[in-house]
Formats: sequence, C-alpha cells, structure tokens
Amino acid sequence: MGQLYPTHSSVTRKAMNLSNNFECFKRGMMNRCPRCGVGPITKTLFVRHESCPHCKMDFTREDGFYSGAMAINYAMVCGFYLFPMLLIWWAGWLPGWPTIILCFLGSAIMPILTYRYSQCLWLGFYCWVTAEELDEDSRSEK
Ligand SMILES: [Zn+2]
Repeated sequence: MGQLYPTHSSVTRKAMNLSNNFECFKRGMMNRCPRCGVGPITKTLFVRHESCPHCKMDFTREDGFYSGAMAINYAMVCGFYLFPMLLIWWAGWLPGWPTIILCFLGSAIMPILTYRYSQCLWLGFYCWVTAEELDEDSRSEK
C-alpha cells in the first residue's frame, strides 16, 4: 500500500502549504497533487502518475482504492449528462427516441471522458477527509 503522508519530519502541514483540509480536495479538482499542489495526478486521459513528479507522494493505493472514483464518475454522468437530457426531453425540446439514443450513447462515452477527472476528485476527497493523519504524523515526530 502506498503511503499517503510520509512520516518523516520534512513533510508537515506547513511544508505542504495547507491552509485547511479542503485545500487537498481543491488540488485534486485541479488535477494537482493533494499534498504539494504542484505535480499533476494524471499523465494522459487514461494514465495516472505512479507518484507525484514534484513531491513524490505515492498515488498508487491499495487494490480497489480507486473504485470510489467509480461512484464519482457515475454521479457526474447522471448529474451532468443524463439528468439534463431528461430535463430537455421533459421540456419537450427533444422527442423520446432521440433522447433515449443520446442517453445510451452518452452513458457509454461520458464515463470514459470523466474517468481521469473522477480519479483526481476521489484522491482529493480521500486526502481531504483523512487529513487528520497529518496531525498524527506531526505529533508522533516530536
Ligand atoms: Zn506532490
């Protein structure tokens, strides 16, 4: 399992330039390393860096870690594509069959397009909610 926060004293909350825990999530949203905010999380649309090119934070987690990204991916597809498509159909701007076809096509294509972003969001979210580990690390170093 990759270590999210190194336990050596050089990496503390201050060194990570973290004003608050939500900063980790914002960095993930911007495809930036949650720890340093500099290195990109992903190389291409489908390939994630093994670790941060800048601070070497390990992005490789235990098996199944990124399955949480699937939930984010699903929510993004439903919230930003399928639900608006249903509203368009409900408003009468698009007939039924084209809506159904577009929904099926979008359901196949949108998860591929949002795959990378959902992983970034998941890593950022994970770092946001587990940022207390930082305090434990810094306390144990003293
Ligand atoms: Zn980094």
